[in-house]
Amino acid sequence: MRALPHMTKPEVHPKKYFDQIEIFGSMEKRSWIHDPKSPKRFFINEAKCPVRNPFDRIDGVVREEGIKLFDNLVWQQWHEDGQMPKSAKKWFKERVKEFKAGTDIDLVCNCRRFRGHDDALGLQAKYPCDCHGYTLKKYIEFLANNSNMDY
Ligand SMILES: [Zn+2]
Repeated sequence: MRALPHMTKPEVHPKKYFDQIEIFGSMEKRSWIHDPKSPKRFFINEAKCPVRNPFDRIDGVVREEGIKLFDNLVWQQWHEDGQMPKSAKKWFKERVKEFKAGTDIDLVCNCRRFRGHDDALGLQAKYPCDCHGYTLKKYIEFLANNSNMDY
């Protein structure tokens, strides 16, 4: 006999799941996760940040296009062609080290206050759900999982 689904159980809010690397808007953090190891927060769109998006807010470049240009910069010019600036290399190296050590990494970008993906949880998707931070996340994970790399 097939077990019936628990129909009497009240529908609960879907439990939020965090990746080890998360991209947050400027108003967000995972403070409500009670973990002794607090995540490290990095602001990825400040002038002094080596992995900010230089194509953001340039005249004639729409936002989505700027994010694509950044993605191309990282994977083509920096990774494939080996033209990554030293400061960016250092930044990735440190993040990969933290990632491998199991540290949660919050990449905070001020291109939006809240990420758009969360509209199912009640946030308004008024801000673009895409961000150059997703390129950073993907690249850090790539480096961490590629043992041949000098990281
Ligand atoms: Zn952003």
